[in-house]
Amino acid sequence: VNAFEYVRATSWEEAQRALAEGGPGALAKASGIDLIDRMKEGLDAPGRLVSTLSIPGSDAIEVGKSGAVVVGANATLTAMAEAAELARRFPALVEAAGTAANPNVRNGATLAGNLCQRPRCHYYRSLLHPCLRKGGGTCYAQAGENATHALFDNRGCAAVTASSMAIPLVALGAKARVRGADGVSRELPLADLFVPASEDLRREVRLGPTELIEAVVLDGPELRSAYGKVRPRESFDWPIVEAAVAVRSEGGRVADARIVLGAVAMVPWRAKDAEAALVGTSGDADTRALAVARALAGAEPLSGNGHKVDIARALVGRLLTRVFDRRSP
Ligand SMILES: Cc1cc2nc3c(=O)[nH]c(=O)nc-3n(C[C@H](O)[C@H](O)[C@H](O)COP(=O)(O)OP(=O)(O)OC[C@H]3O[C@@H](n4cnc5c(N)ncnc54)[C@H](O)[C@@H]3O)c2cc1C
Ligand code: SF4
Repeated sequence: VNAFEYVRATSWEEAQRALAEGGPGALAKASGIDLIDRMKEGLDAPGRLVSTLSIPGSDAIEVGKSGAVVVGANATLTAMAEAAELARRFPALVEAAGTAANPNVRNGATLAGNLCQRPRCHYYRSLLHPCLRKGGGTCYAQAGENATHALFDNRGCAAVTASSMAIPLVALGAKARVRGADGVSRELPLADLFVPASEDLRREVRLGPTELIEAVVLDGPELRSAYGKVRPRESFDWPIVEAAVAVRSEGGRVADARIVLGAVAMVPWRAKDAEAALVGTSGDADTRALAVARALAGAEPLSGNGHKVDIARALVGRLLTRVFDRRSP
């Protein structure tokens, strides 16, 4: 690991100032599970780390007067998994937080760090492979080992988003509260935070070098929701495929349906054809089967990841059954 300066910020304002003063070599650090790994692997060599963990209240999970739940950037996955209000209203989020990685990782991993972690593609993580996403001339996954790679938007870089938290949060219509370079906080749909592979290969989230996520806000209508994943080993592995389903019904008919797939693209992937199949129906078994059949519409498997299509379809089917059996959020 390179030598670096370490700044412990006590406010978001101070963190942002320290990042600006540190120049292009300064990076925000939450628990460092991803960032310190990247430094140890030689992928990043920041001259200054700005810790946000020392900002008082940045890990709070609070319910506002309007009923919106505000999850602080530094809330850990464990804290989210154990928050009663989240469990009651947003079960998909709690299911994702409680099953990501392993208990040790969950005890440290923060929400913002999870959303902003860099890809897990093994070529990306290897110094021996100067691939497209690192400014090189080729994507090694195209003709190489691509079993864990993307099914959609995968002809340039085929890496997938690493964030499990993003999947239910997009399904639940969450917003990211981002402190802009001008020091003003704004809220943007979390779905808009993520950058498709075909748009920009050099970053995964739409944040400038001094912009920071302060919190994630859940203020949308209440939805019945469920999250699930399939992974090689249940104890700690990254998912082969993960998914979240969120549904709102009115008068026995589906008024709003979101089906979001994870580990299939660089962004949380909305299965819009499948969502459309559900809207206006009662969510009966035939409709659910149609939604499952459409869930992977447009998928373009690479040489070694076709298995993800069947796994994702089966997972969506299971989640739809759970969500339609669930009477309340
Ligand atoms: C064995 C193992 C299994 C794992 N399995 C999973 C899994 O199944 N699903 C999953 O989602 N994750 C998994 N992870 C990854 C883990 O969840 C992430 O590494 C962790 O969430 C990162 O959080 P952190 O607080 O340590 O972030 P850090 O490492 O501190 O930061 C990560 C990135 O976020 C940026 N950042 C941090 N805070 C902010 C902020 N407030 N605003 C803007 N940018 C910020 C940093 O600059 C950095 O680039 C696994 C990790 C391990 C080791
Ligand atoms: S999938 Fe993306 S990150 Fe992986 S080798 Fe290809 S360009 Fe690099």
